[in-house]
Amino acid sequence: MIVDEFSFKHPDNQHRKRLSRILPLDSSDPKYVEVEKLFFKGWCHLDKQKPEIRGVFKILSPDESLEPYVYYRSQVQAFNLLSRYKKGANEQLCFHGTRRLCALGEDSSKVYLCDFPGCSICGIIRNSFDVGKCGDAHSFKRFGNGIYTTSCASKADDYSSIGRSNCQHLNRNSRILLLNRVVVGKPHHRRQNGTHMSQPPPGFHSVIGLPGVDLNYEETVVYRNDAIRPAYLVVYGPPVEPEGTFKRNIFIPNPLGNPVDSQQPMARGLFKAHAMLSALFNTPLAV
Ligand SMILES: [Zn+2]
Repeated sequence: MIVDEFSFKHPDNQHRKRLSRILPLDSSDPKYVEVEKLFFKGWCHLDKQKPEIRGVFKILSPDESLEPYVYYRSQVQAFNLLSRYKKGANEQLCFHGTRRLCALGEDSSKVYLCDFPGCSICGIIRNSFDVGKCGDAHSFKRFGNGIYTTSCASKADDYSSIGRSNCQHLNRNSRILLLNRVVVGKPHHRRQNGTHMSQPPPGFHSVIGLPGVDLNYEETVVYRNDAIRPAYLVVYGPPVEPEGTFKRNIFIPNPLGNPVDSQQPMARGLFKAHAMLSALFNTPLAV
């Protein structure tokens, strides 16, 4: 039996490279488009430059790893059906940023997991999440000992990092996030920290931290390994300007009437003088 579309054995994944765990998606693939939409919808920090997506990979797993997840999802579904919670298993796709030490995903040929013990990206793809290891890198756990994800890609980006690595092919200009299937079930919403927590309150399956009091962006936390599986790898980075384009200069009109390149030292002086005169007369000067 094939568990689902993320299984090695699924017909859609037959063309994966032997022994690889990730499969590059074409930008026309509906799954690529879905991931791209979630990524840009979740880019909520106004002070962070909007990146460009360089690749999306589907993460494949053996059926033995997918089965406990699918079983837990069906249990949550049944529980919520009985308790008349309309969203059922409430499966969501949420981002998680972590450390990497290798060049996985930097182009469509880099599809093999590394063996570096500290490469968390490869560790999670290989064995999925482990609540016992989560948050190792961060001593502060806002909602206790759980597995942290978010719909806010730009927040997950804060946790995406490159560790000390000898990998020759690593492009430090590329960033990587995991997009994961999460059984959110019936969530317990919190605005205040709950660092003591090791599970959601009875009757709930997850904790969702809401922005407003103790945090600025949403967080979704699950406390069981079987409540989450990595689904996609998103590779992105700062937008690359096409070759042949030049940095646009800003022209500041000056009191003499000639446009001046703002990047020239003389222009900066003129601009300053202009601003000082404006301030002195407490009125904008006509130019
Ligand atoms: Zn790696």
